[in-house]
Amino acid sequence: MTAQVLNGVEVAEHIKQRVAARVSGLAEQGIKPGLAAVIVGDDPASKVYVGSKVKTCEALGLYSEKHELPGTTTTEELLALVNRLNHNDAIDGILVQMPLPKQIDARRILEAVDPAKDVDGFHAVNVGRLVQGRDALVACTPAGVIELLDYYKIPIAGANAVVVGRSDIVGKPMALLLLHRHATVTICHSKTRDLAAVTRQADIVIAAIGRTAMITGDHVREGAVVVDVGMNDATTEAEILRIFAEPERSKRLEVLAKRGRTLVGDVEPRTVAEKAAWLTPVPGGVGPLTIAMLMQNTLRAAEMRRGL
Ligand code: NDP
Repeated sequence: MTAQVLNGVEVAEHIKQRVAARVSGLAEQGIKPGLAAVIVGDDPASKVYVGSKVKTCEALGLYSEKHELPGTTTTEELLALVNRLNHNDAIDGILVQMPLPKQIDARRILEAVDPAKDVDGFHAVNVGRLVQGRDALVACTPAGVIELLDYYKIPIAGANAVVVGRSDIVGKPMALLLLHRHATVTICHSKTRDLAAVTRQADIVIAAIGRTAMITGDHVREGAVVVDVGMNDATTEAEILRIFAEPERSKRLEVLAKRGRTLVGDVEPRTVAEKAAWLTPVPGGVGPLTIAMLMQNTLRAAEMRRGL
């Protein structure tokens, strides 16, 4: 079997069009959902992420503003900004880009965001609502994975789903979303004994580990659906040879020669694509869905705040 591609770019486009249509409907009522993105320090990757979030807002007709603070900002100073944004009626969503510099108490900042504006879904109130299956702003990446599975009509109810990774931002909310959709869910982590024996039972495998191509053909049963959340850099030719078959292998070797690295996931496509029925590529799988879901969450926050 050669796995079919779960195309995240296509699904993200579909979500963004849906959001843009609803945003233009709200515009007729004089409502423009607004996102405030806060970035502290000058981590280049964070700047790229925030830049593309702001650009996507503009493309979809949402209002956005960017707050760039120096790397020396204190917890109190950042709290003061969050507080101002909480009270700013033009702002429906507040996003504090992680990671924050060491001197800042990240937990205090995330808990200071008004849960009604918590478009990342990281606040304990939203996590609690998610656990209870109530209306909540849900973390963008796992919410995007559900959109992806639905778009391709992958049955979730009754499926054995194995989530590898138990982080607060991906693994745990992912497991809860699958559970609410009536999957039988197993969560694995670094202390799981015989990971491959567990993942081989799965109809759906979600890899959110952060380890280059750790999930191989040995971890997957014939016909499984495999979603690769991981974003890692491969930096050696040996890695490329192990991870990719042709024609992708040659393309990646070229990228490596040019840039010294290439983006890879937690799944080894060379061996997994032989067995899986469906597989997400990296890049072009889960990544684009995260931003699309941030837009959707900002829209939802705007509607919920106005009781729409
Ligand atoms: P974390 O580092 O917070 O969590 C990783 C999880 O993987 C932990 O629960 C850890 O277990 C588990 N793990 C580590 N090693 C193993 C192992 N050998 N066997 C089984 N489980 C293991 O990462 P995140 O959840 O934040 O992110 C995961 C990946 O997803 C990263 O590559 C990240 O870059 C990517 N990501 C991609 C996004 C996107 O938009 N595409 C968005 C967010 C993340 P334990 O708890 O025991 O330590």
